[in-house]
Amino acid sequence: MMQWTVNPPSLWHAWFDPRILHQLWLDRIKVITSDCLSDYRGSIPRRVANINSLMKTINIAGVDIDIADGNIGLSISGGADSALLAYILAKYAPGPLKFYSYVSEDKFRRGEKYSRQVVDKVIELTGNNNISHDITYFQTQEYKQFIRFLMIKVMSKQVDIMYCAVTETPPEAVMESFNNKMESSVFQLRTPGILKDVYSRSNMEYNPFRNINKQRIRAIYEELELLDTLYPLTFSCESMLDVQEHCGDCWWCEERHWAFGRYV
Ligand SMILES: [Zn+2]
Repeated sequence: MMQWTVNPPSLWHAWFDPRILHQLWLDRIKVITSDCLSDYRGSIPRRVANINSLMKTINIAGVDIDIADGNIGLSISGGADSALLAYILAKYAPGPLKFYSYVSEDKFRRGEKYSRQVVDKVIELTGNNNISHDITYFQTQEYKQFIRFLMIKVMSKQVDIMYCAVTETPPEAVMESFNNKMESSVFQLRTPGILKDVYSRSNMEYNPFRNINKQRIRAIYEELELLDTLYPLTFSCESMLDVQEHCGDCWWCEERHWAFGRYV
């Protein structure tokens, strides 16, 4: 698969390279078919997210993060990665921020508690209260439904672009030392050591952390001095039991401990 890291190629480039035209067409089809449109009744904006309107790119701990102007959406789970991105956007983005939490009943609505306390802390730390936070409940955490839920916010122009905080997994050798294996469908998004496109779904979705793993996330926490303020309020455990703290036993607890050396 072809990769581009910052600006996806335009149709002008595609004119010279049929492979790019083909890839653009595949990307467009992916957006229009099963992923997100079955619930959407409006017309599809011709260009849903205009990446030329990027206001600036900042660099924290060696990681480039594009800060768009306009209405920015962010998927926030209560985990360490999305909490960090929420803080960065609240600190550096000029426009209104719309945070969306997708909370699973099957996991005891844990996402509600942790995303609320993360958003409260982000507002307290940055002084930015130009933020809304919508929590939506679903029975089961299902990736396709989750993406549809997010992309409809862009297609219906509630936001100009949706930020997400997908990271790379730890390197293969590290994962081999873990006691648990990760679900394969999610793993594909996070394959380590391969340069992945940070813009996807016709620029509707932006994942600035897609090519870094959780140890690099910790480095950003360190640089922003958030390890003792924001980090302890985040929750990474994906236990299917009704746990009140990190179980220390699931894949996500292992990843968190590998990166930060502690749970809270
Ligand atoms: Zn756990």
